[in-house]
Amino acid sequence: LTRHYLDRIAASQHNAFLHVDAELSLAQAKAADARFAEGSAGALTGIPIAHKDIFVTKGWRSTAASKMLGNYVSPFDATVVTKFGDAGMVTLGKLNCDEFAMGSANENSAFGAVKNPWDTLAVPGGSSGGSAAAIAARLAPAATGTDTGGSIRQPAAFCGITGIKPTYGRVSRFGMIAFASSLDQGGPMARTAEDCALLLNEMVGFDERDSTSLTAEQGNAREDFTRELSKPPGQKPLLGLRIGVPKEYFGEGLAQDVEQAVRAALDEFVKLGATLVEISLPKTSLSIPVYYIIAPAEASSNLSRFDGVRYGYRTPEYKDLQDMYKKTRAEGFGKEVQRRIMVGTYVLCHGYYDAYYVQAQKIRRLIADDFQAAFKDKCDVIMGPVAPTVAWDLGAKSDDPVANYLADIFTLSTSLAGLPGMSIPVGFGQGEKNAKRPVGLQIIGNYFAEAKLLNIAHQYQ
Ligand code: GLN
Repeated sequence: LTRHYLDRIAASQHNAFLHVDAELSLAQAKAADARFAEGSAGALTGIPIAHKDIFVTKGWRSTAASKMLGNYVSPFDATVVTKFGDAGMVTLGKLNCDEFAMGSANENSAFGAVKNPWDTLAVPGGSSGGSAAAIAARLAPAATGTDTGGSIRQPAAFCGITGIKPTYGRVSRFGMIAFASSLDQGGPMARTAEDCALLLNEMVGFDERDSTSLTAEQGNAREDFTRELSKPPGQKPLLGLRIGVPKEYFGEGLAQDVEQAVRAALDEFVKLGATLVEISLPKTSLSIPVYYIIAPAEASSNLSRFDGVRYGYRTPEYKDLQDMYKKTRAEGFGKEVQRRIMVGTYVLCHGYYDAYYVQAQKIRRLIADDFQAAFKDKCDVIMGPVAPTVAWDLGAKSDDPVANYLADIFTLSTSLAGLPGMSIPVGFGQGEKNAKRPVGLQIIGNYFAEAKLLNIAHQYQ
């Protein structure tokens, strides 16, 4: 199995992988074989997985798709990587992404853009674009992603695969190169909800090395996310389920072909027994300004460690310490990362902190309250589009950061609230150009509702 995928990776032209080391992978595969002989194999033993290059790995370089970490080899594995290793999974290599996970199209990678396997003229989405493309192109059966404001869900949607961002705090951030720590959350990406459930079984749980990791007492006990999947499907397996459909997710700006595919999927859920309830999430439009204050603020702080001394790249020539810092950071970071450091530093400055950062934190709470009001007595889960359009053309928005930010409108609020959300494929765009570009349906649940989301998705799939 490992060889099969390594061969496919070697022959692929999507630029989804940044580092492969066949020898290392095959050694892990051999060890997995031995576990079968010993009788200690589990459900995932011997199954290959590839990791977004945000997760650090001992054997493979860990670059966050940045020149800053171009040659970095971590002395330890991320907790998630360790957990999958303990389950006997085989690492296939490291996946391309936006630099430090900042982006929506994977075009901010220092190592080049990734091509969408459905239509190689299209972006794969981002920031986990390499992960989504690798699954879609069958270069890996499973991958890790990270989602700060949509980076699992949106590339999953653009590449026609399934991905879930768990409740904030369920999956350890230890060894996940930090972007915005109060939002970053790792999760699985695969072809189906069932595969994601099997992967999530290994991912969740308290980790004392992550200061915001949730404990079992707080609700983060390990659980079997597949437990409801194999119920004999009744005629109407979702009878009684109330699906909230936020009116703000279907307004101006939503492309017609995306709306059609999403509405057709909602009709399918009605056939499965669910009822649709119109709800309102009135602060949706504020999620963009709020997120693009909070995420850069945290990023500017997290990225201050890349100074040419402690980690990674250092400029070859410099006059003095200040000059070394300046040149190292100007040469090591790409444009988008620099932009965010500048914005983040600005909103945290004395005098602007109250006007921007504190205001943003207050609205963040109101955004979370919107969801709680909906879950309180109106609906059990929320459904809508993942993104306003199908994947756009490579290059079409690469010089326009605001156009990229606007495309995050439906995924940011879930992240700001810390809620779990997933994306499942529900069709394709229309029109000659979009006929091969997938559409994703987003399913959002209340805290710790991952098993419910996966079960609902599974009934559709
Ligand atoms: N597109 C968003 C951003 O650029 C989200 C990225 C992410 O979730 N890592 O910040």
